[in-house]
Amino acid sequence: MAQYAKPLMRLIEELNSLPGIGGKSAQRLAFHILSMPEEDVKGLTDAMMNAKHQMKYCSICGNLTDKDPCSICEDDKRNTKYICVVESPRDVAAMERIKEYKGRYHVLHGCISPVDGIGPEDINLRSLILRLQQEDVEEVILATNPTIEGEATAMYIARLLKPAGIKVSRIAHGLPVGGDLEYADEVTISKSLENRKEL
Ligand SMILES: [Zn+2]
Repeated sequence: MAQYAKPLMRLIEELNSLPGIGGKSAQRLAFHILSMPEEDVKGLTDAMMNAKHQMKYCSICGNLTDKDPCSICEDDKRNTKYICVVESPRDVAAMERIKEYKGRYHVLHGCISPVDGIGPEDINLRSLILRLQQEDVEEVILATNPTIEGEATAMYIARLLKPAGIKVSRIAHGLPVGGDLEYADEVTISKSLENRKEL
């Protein structure tokens, strides 16, 4: 990377540390930011700080929200008999795009991955068990990603819940293996939900 004066260098490095932003993109963005009116740069930094300060995790489902409980948990038109378990808030957004699922969610914030040292106690699983004890849930739909870790996590949760007599299902494999729910199109997500299998 070319050598720039310190303030510019720092901006490039910060941008470069973001996911999906390589060195060239970071430089392009940094130069673009410098060419923007100061007002617009302030708008950008304000938006970042506001989002950071105002967004939190729902104490019930773990989804990202600006109010607790989140609008999905608060919505009495949602079917409380279903809980769809996903890895991240981005997956909730993906599921919501299909507008077919009317149940509620539980966000794990990751998946079990022994090679990365992430065990069941490191994801948002304990609160799911508590919910199932307190809420009248008929079916838990496991919509973790179709990766090795996502599958293993689904199997772990299924084994954990089965003895409690709760119906546990896994979304079907219309989704590309190794792919993420958030990148799947609406038809694919819709089909994989419709063709879910009981575990
Ligand atoms: Zn919620």
